[in-house]
Amino acid sequence: MDDQTAEHFDAVVVGAGFSGLYMLHRLRALGLRTLVLEAADDVGGTWWWNRYPGARCDIESFDYSYSFDPELEQDWSWSERYATQPEILAYVDHVADRFDLRRDISFRTRLTTATWRSEVDRWSLTTDTARSIDTRFLIMAVGCLSRANRPELDGLDEFRGRILHTGEWPHEGVDVSGLRVGVIGTGSSGIQSIPLLAEQAASLTVFQRTPAFTLPAMNAPLDTATIEAFKARYREHREAVKHSHGGVLTSPSEESVFAVEEAERERRFEAAWRSGTLFGLLSSFSDLMIDPAANEIAAQFVRDRIAEIVHDPATAEALSPRTFPIGTKRLCLDTGYYATFNRPNVSLVDLRRDPIERVTTTGIRTSAREIELDLLVFATGFDAMTGALLAPTITGRDGRTLRDAWAAGPRTYLGIATAGFPNLFTITGPGSPSVLTNMLVSIEQHVDWTADCIGELERTGATRIEATVEAQDGWVDHVNEVAGFTLYPTGNSWYLGANIEGKPRVFMPYIAGVEIFRAICDEVAAGGYRGFDISGTAGVEVG
Ligand code: NAP
Repeated sequence: MDDQTAEHFDAVVVGAGFSGLYMLHRLRALGLRTLVLEAADDVGGTWWWNRYPGARCDIESFDYSYSFDPELEQDWSWSERYATQPEILAYVDHVADRFDLRRDISFRTRLTTATWRSEVDRWSLTTDTARSIDTRFLIMAVGCLSRANRPELDGLDEFRGRILHTGEWPHEGVDVSGLRVGVIGTGSSGIQSIPLLAEQAASLTVFQRTPAFTLPAMNAPLDTATIEAFKARYREHREAVKHSHGGVLTSPSEESVFAVEEAERERRFEAAWRSGTLFGLLSSFSDLMIDPAANEIAAQFVRDRIAEIVHDPATAEALSPRTFPIGTKRLCLDTGYYATFNRPNVSLVDLRRDPIERVTTTGIRTSAREIELDLLVFATGFDAMTGALLAPTITGRDGRTLRDAWAAGPRTYLGIATAGFPNLFTITGPGSPSVLTNMLVSIEQHVDWTADCIGELERTGATRIEATVEAQDGWVDHVNEVAGFTLYPTGNSWYLGANIEGKPRVFMPYIAGVEIFRAICDEVAAGGYRGFDISGTAGVEVG
């Protein structure tokens, strides 16, 4: 790269979603000249892209928001228990304006390559807009679920109707009234969009490979009294959440499901079902995510609810998950999902019995039938946790790419750093609690830790930080070990990369939770960044 033409920054952040925006705010406060690269037209990350009908958060609004500024949380008022995508995007927009963030963001710009230059302890970057950038620190704030997974189906190119992915929904919206719509996929995105698409479409055919467990969201508007009461104790609440397991407040039971009578089990499960929370059901007893027999009792409770709601017994059975323990694939929250299958214009194709043979010019041919479609919606998820990190070619200290380094699965230290890739930080990267928690809490924790670390490097005059191989190996072993105590690795989930053909099967998130992880990270920093090599320019040891 020609250094003469490169633009020079202290830090480059990739992504202008929740993590990238907060990272920018923190780095600016340190006095670092920072640039954010963002592929989209504006801020918002996942909430900018995922505009499908019904898109909303399944963490409560009060919790799914920044905690770093007490005034911000007092000034903003959420209108619903679970905020819609437009409301969350309006919030992000408000934050970007309030802190004047856009002036340091380059929109419609995608990072294409990043190459470490040991002789100067800096990264050289190129973008798809032909920018050459030179930076000391590179922070990947690309989100865990941002690279769309589009399965290759025979004949897809021949389809004459419209094809959409929930994660790349058109901004002008889509009028499906009168259309024959097909949806492939029944994870959170499918489960949220299917009820709304069904209300408008002439017909809706749901192509289901694996049924998911979903619980009713019990969403409702928030009234002024509730908002004011919450705001009055917001600070205390934030503090408690920081030290919680999942980044939300729960009251996990310490009792085994086998320690109580059946009537008591039912009572607790029923209360959890009615609570409309993601974590309530699985916290009802201590052993649901550890003991397969205990888990099966919770799973059967949900299957019984499906059988009550769905009128046609064969459809109810097809919608009932039986191939993985409940909770090992991410739970969903829905509004009217199961009842949607009682509508006369909705039908379910169980792909395990009746697989797709090919897409035709007019629809989908399965082994048993031909279904005519005007619109085909892929609700098929993402190349999770590593997809967006591996999309650019990131070449580290020894000329090795991150793709090569992670060929057998991601290897990180604390989810934030990778040996061989100095001064590269991966916010909520694999090996951190991330997707198993309220993302906002995990984002703020990782951003704060990274900003503090960079601040410390600046203070001491260090120019390079890199995780050691030993620390990384130890962390990867630990992440696997704690996952192994639970049922999580037994579900064929995107947590394991199992949704992407050929992706290594490695359980990627750190299961021990927000509080334990925070304590470990704080201890690493307090111990002089234990497990990292830190040096000054040209490899001079610092401190
Ligand atoms: P997902 O959970 O990965 O679900 C994808 C669905 O597509 C699954 O049912 C999957 O079946 C199916 N699928 C994938 N490839 C297929 C193929 N070739 N043929 C047929 N079916 C196929 O993706 P998602 O629904 O977009 O959700 C991803 C994650 O994003 C969620 O788990 C959640 O963490 C987050 N999210 C959150 C919200 C929210 O806050 N409310 C909303 C949306 C998404 P298999 O199960 O058999 O692989």
